[in-house]
Amino acid sequence: MGKKGIKERTLLILKPDAVERGLVGEIIGRVERMGFKIVGAKFVKPTEDLGEKHYPNTDEWKKSVGERTIEDCEKYGIDLMENMGTTDPIEIGNLVKKWNVDYLCSGPVFAFVLEGFNAIERLRSLVGNTVPTKANPGTIRGDFSLDSAILANMNGRAISNLVHASGNAEEASYEIDLWFRKEELVN
Ligand code: ADP
Repeated sequence: MGKKGIKERTLLILKPDAVERGLVGEIIGRVERMGFKIVGAKFVKPTEDLGEKHYPNTDEWKKSVGERTIEDCEKYGIDLMENMGTTDPIEIGNLVKKWNVDYLCSGPVFAFVLEGFNAIERLRSLVGNTVPTKANPGTIRGDFSLDSAILANMNGRAISNLVHASGNAEEASYEIDLWFRKEELVN
């Protein structure tokens, strides 16, 4: 495990909107068709504590999310002060983190641990861009969601993008340990 291109494990979460819209079968069908092996699965309503731990609490993460949000707002002529109450990237990151936790914990989710060669990168390519309006057709987010960052920000909520997939090996390892006990995974 771990080495890029070698057999890896990654975490896939079907977020509350995917469950509510009845997209579980459709998404998992695509995952299976690509050859991923399911080594863990659970259907849970995340607690706020789990949601808080799932999204990074680092200034680095908050700054990067905040800066992307600022760029989008500038592009679309949205007044940051009016919509976010601040122009500080870290404070904006904090706000987005809160929206994320609210979104993830707003209903039941299906969490999967998937195994396969180069699984982390391959799953990210199936999932598509974070922002559905920027995601390519053929990807899960591109095919099933029309949400945009600006719509979400103006309504004070997270981008509804149906799924979460670990971003890299470090995230995958942290997230799998957070969501699953060792004995819940099969070999
Ligand atoms: P990804 O889920 O593609 O790894 P990130 O880790 O950057 O993306 O962000 C985590 C989640 O936060 C996203 O899936 C999305 O739901 C939400 N999100 C990211 N940026 C924003 C934003 N500017 N406004 C609202 N929600 C956001």
